[in-house]
Amino acid sequence: MRPWLAQLAQILLPALLLWLLQLLTMQLPHSVEFGGLALPLYLPAGLALALAVAQGWRCAAGLLLGFSLANAMLLLHDPARALALAVVQTLAPLLAAGFLRSRLQHTPPFYRLSRVLLFLWCGVLANTVLSTLLAHLVLDYSLLPADASRWNALFSRWLGEVNGILVLTPPMLFLLLDAPARSSSNPARWLESALLTWITLGLAVVEFIIADFRHGVAAALWPLSCIALMWVVFRCRLALAYCLHGVIVLLAFVGVLLHNGLAYQDAGYSGIAAAGMLLLVQSLTLLVFGALVAERRFAEDWLRRANQTLEAKVVERTRQLAQSEARLKLMADASPFPMVMNNLDGGALIYANAQAESLFKCRLDTQQQVQDFYVDQEARKQVSQLLHAHGAVRDHEVKLHDAEGRQFWALVSCSVVHSDQALYVISGINDISERKRLERSLHEANDALRQHVAEIESLHVGLREQVRRDPLTGLFNRRYLDEILPRLLAHMLALNGTVAVLMLDADHFKRINDRYGHQCGDAVLAALGGFLRDRFRSGDVVCRYGGEEFCILMPGIALEAASEKAWQLCEAVRQLPIQAGEHCLHITLSVGLSVCPLHGEDPESLIHAADAALYQAKALGRDQVCLAHSGQPALS
Ligand code: GH3
Ligand code: MG
Ligand code: MG
Repeated sequence: MRPWLAQLAQILLPALLLWLLQLLTMQLPHSVEFGGLALPLYLPAGLALALAVAQGWRCAAGLLLGFSLANAMLLLHDPARALALAVVQTLAPLLAAGFLRSRLQHTPPFYRLSRVLLFLWCGVLANTVLSTLLAHLVLDYSLLPADASRWNALFSRWLGEVNGILVLTPPMLFLLLDAPARSSSNPARWLESALLTWITLGLAVVEFIIADFRHGVAAALWPLSCIALMWVVFRCRLALAYCLHGVIVLLAFVGVLLHNGLAYQDAGYSGIAAAGMLLLVQSLTLLVFGALVAERRFAEDWLRRANQTLEAKVVERTRQLAQSEARLKLMADASPFPMVMNNLDGGALIYANAQAESLFKCRLDTQQQVQDFYVDQEARKQVSQLLHAHGAVRDHEVKLHDAEGRQFWALVSCSVVHSDQALYVISGINDISERKRLERSLHEANDALRQHVAEIESLHVGLREQVRRDPLTGLFNRRYLDEILPRLLAHMLALNGTVAVLMLDADHFKRINDRYGHQCGDAVLAALGGFLRDRFRSGDVVCRYGGEEFCILMPGIALEAASEKAWQLCEAVRQLPIQAGEHCLHITLSVGLSVCPLHGEDPESLIHAADAALYQAKALGRDQVCLAHSGQPALS
């Protein structure tokens, strides 16, 4: 459609509608003395407010034209006043609608009680009062009767406008502003709506058209149609209820025109006014009750939607949790070592992975406690105390047992975790029985080895002693002498000290052997050896040189002292009774003495010099001491 044509239609269509409604309302009985200006149901006011709320100032021209035409029918002789009245009738609903539109946001004002009240105060009361008062100023007083009736006329005009608005504006606003009704997918609900509609209409027809107004039963029918209407409000869409209300109003006035029905009281204005009042009550009830029901329905819908959203979220969250738990369980079951989760307090098991069940050889469930698997409850208490104190335990060795009673060592690492306002313990358990067994066998092997080494050591020491010692006398042997003498000489020479060498030989020892036997000779040698060992200082070295010959090294001793000591030795041996078996024997010694560095500084020279001196002592008659290189007995 062309724009100008659309604009023209926007002006002409409301104007035409207003004019038609004016025509219709003028068919209703009205007070003739008010010159047709006090109509009991002034429907044009309802249409004007509905258009003003829906379209705002865009409909101003159409309303002005429509009201002008409508007024012209009553005020043919005074077009100026008709126009002035039209201006008032156009301005009042536009001003009220301007205020309402700023708050309604293009929705019908009947879904909340606060909006219904706003509609009643602003759209109905303020609009009609303003319109009526301004109309009163504009209208010619000569049209009105005496002062006493003027207010009556004003009230009647005001009531007509209120009725017109309450009857026509709500269904029109639903038509213009509400979203188109979705066809109900529920056949039962559709059937219920249809049934309720027909029941309500049927009751209204009986009540307002068929029933005899003089009969008391007619009065009782009104609450019935009201109840049916409220039922529609309660069970069906609010728009349907308002449409039915509009139809009921029309039926009421048709009944009045037919001189029958509940609304008809008498043929005059008062009858139609009574019907108007009746319908006013019904309108207000519908508005308030409808808003309350709509509010409740909105609340229920909101709650249902919220509940559905919440349920969907719970389902989703439960699914996520189940997935997460399944993943965690997979991870825990795939773990290469046994894992257990339990309550910190009480120790009740929460979860155990497949490896843990295989380790403990049973199905682990929440009926069991970790302490059931400890061999020593003190160890369990210790772990619990550590967890309470530090929140974790690392590589703690404990002894556990499985369901079949097998005891094993385990390396336990635990951590305390906080979840769901409770404290749990997650433990990793490592069976270290095999390691322990290896450790034990290693320890045993180590002990055996150490013992073996000690034995070897002692054997070695013994062997070394055997190598050094002469078995018969227990003195050092010649091998040791050959080993020690060079070192002793080097040491003493470095210190500028002396070393005396005594070569001893038992005199005529062969005779002892010959006379008492070889064993007796051995006993004499052993006794002599013991005597020599005890007689010299620990720093001196007493050796069996071979056969019945002995060699004694005396470091740090002077020649004279050594000679003295040798003589004293000869004397002591001579005096010594030697018990050999049942024989008590006496022997004498011949001694050769050499001194380092006097008679040489090397072992060979000194031994040789002492040996030569010994030979000299033998030659001089035995039982004496000879000094090396002197060829005579040493000085005693
Ligand atoms: P002298 O030295 O005074 O010249 O006379 P002797 O008889 O002691 O000297 P000789 O060298 O002829 O004999 C030494 C004897 O010592 C020979 C041997 O039977 C004896 N003899 C040597 N070693 C041992 C021994 O280990 N045990 C015994 N019983 N006798 C031994
Ligand atoms: Mg000899
Ligand atoms: Mg001899």
